[in-house]
Amino acid sequence: MTTRYYLWTAGCQMNKADSEKLAAGFDRLGLRAADRMDRADVVVLNTCSVRQHAEDRAYSKLGRIRQLKQERPGLKVVLMGCMVGLKTDDLRKRFPQVDVFARPQEFEPILELVQGPHEDLGGEFWPTTYAIPEGPAAFVPVVHGCNKFCTYCIVPYRRGREKSRPLDEIVREAAYLSDHGVREVTLLGQTVEAYGHDLPGQPDLGDLMRELSALDRLQRIRFLTSYPRDMTHRILAAVAELPKVMECFSLPVQSGSDAVLESMRRGYTRAEYLAKIAELRALMPGAGITTDVIVGYPGETVSDFEATCDLLEEVRFHKVHVAAYSPRPGTIAWRKLPDDVPPDVKAARLHRVEAIEARISQEIHDRYVGTVQEVLVEGVRGEQPFGRTRTGVLVHLDTPARTGAMADVRIEHAGPWALRGAVADAIALA
Ligand code: SF4
Repeated sequence: MTTRYYLWTAGCQMNKADSEKLAAGFDRLGLRAADRMDRADVVVLNTCSVRQHAEDRAYSKLGRIRQLKQERPGLKVVLMGCMVGLKTDDLRKRFPQVDVFARPQEFEPILELVQGPHEDLGGEFWPTTYAIPEGPAAFVPVVHGCNKFCTYCIVPYRRGREKSRPLDEIVREAAYLSDHGVREVTLLGQTVEAYGHDLPGQPDLGDLMRELSALDRLQRIRFLTSYPRDMTHRILAAVAELPKVMECFSLPVQSGSDAVLESMRRGYTRAEYLAKIAELRALMPGAGITTDVIVGYPGETVSDFEATCDLLEEVRFHKVHVAAYSPRPGTIAWRKLPDDVPPDVKAARLHRVEAIEARISQEIHDRYVGTVQEVLVEGVRGEQPFGRTRTGVLVHLDTPARTGAMADVRIEHAGPWALRGAVADAIALA
């Protein structure tokens, strides 16, 4: 009888990419996906611990799994992802219903659980297992982990230190994906410009982009998330020079206050961040830049917060992802800093940032009206095709367009979150 698996995923694109790879591996081994947990023989929870809410959702699933396992003791259960740290003893005690605990990208013990002792695959099974997405856009992790240790962040403890994938392995994966209909890859890393420093010869992200640009069928290359100090002039010059690389940056600032940045151990000052933006815009004046901001970080004063608002007005980001600070157990901030900004103050600051973002995004989007933008059609929602500009802005199309087509779209309407337009010219892709 065919073994069925159920895979639940929380969190960021890295986790989604891990889950897609795991599912591709299961499919390759002859397992089949189940649409519900209670119809599966193997249940995998791929977890996130960046926010408490994400962990709570996993706890609730684990409660349901405990019941299922009582009814069916043969059920195999895996807890993977960022909830699994270096020490799993505590997790083992708390969740005896789990058979295997696996850290991010730790696929091998899962393979053993579903296969039993298996033939040595020469270490080639996972590197040659590729997840083919349904649409024309795919995520490709290039560097795992993070060395930065920002005080509020759990990622380095759960995902480990920066570890780059070999360049030729990534190029092979992208070639395979583009041969199977993928037109755009997004290169992923917690700090993606850190790519390559730990590899022989130290290739950088620009070198990787150059190699990927040579793939005929691949039309677009994106990358995230950026970290200001790793973003060298050499990498920026490669983005500016290579037509297939999108001029679109996700560059978290987190705060506009030097005091808060120092307390966060972000590793740059406000002036250094602004200098990086200026360098980037000197090379690519129309680049799309998004950012992340935390409000209500321990000790954030009114003037610290005003400095953040001021920076948002000065830089004028395409989009701002804002979160109210909440302490994550295990982080430096959780150990050392009192969570001293009251919840109502955090909420008010969050709403203020959202209002600034909505106004500025609308103003930026208004400038697209009347222009023609190159859009890769990524899919259809309802009856309406959608895709993104080179700068990363979502576009809904009022005319039919084939998924996977590259279209020149005349922008007719702008809202704060998306644009709308009609196809002026579609370039069919082989
Ligand atoms: S750069 Fe800082 S916030 Fe980003 S993953 Fe690393 S430690 Fe976390």
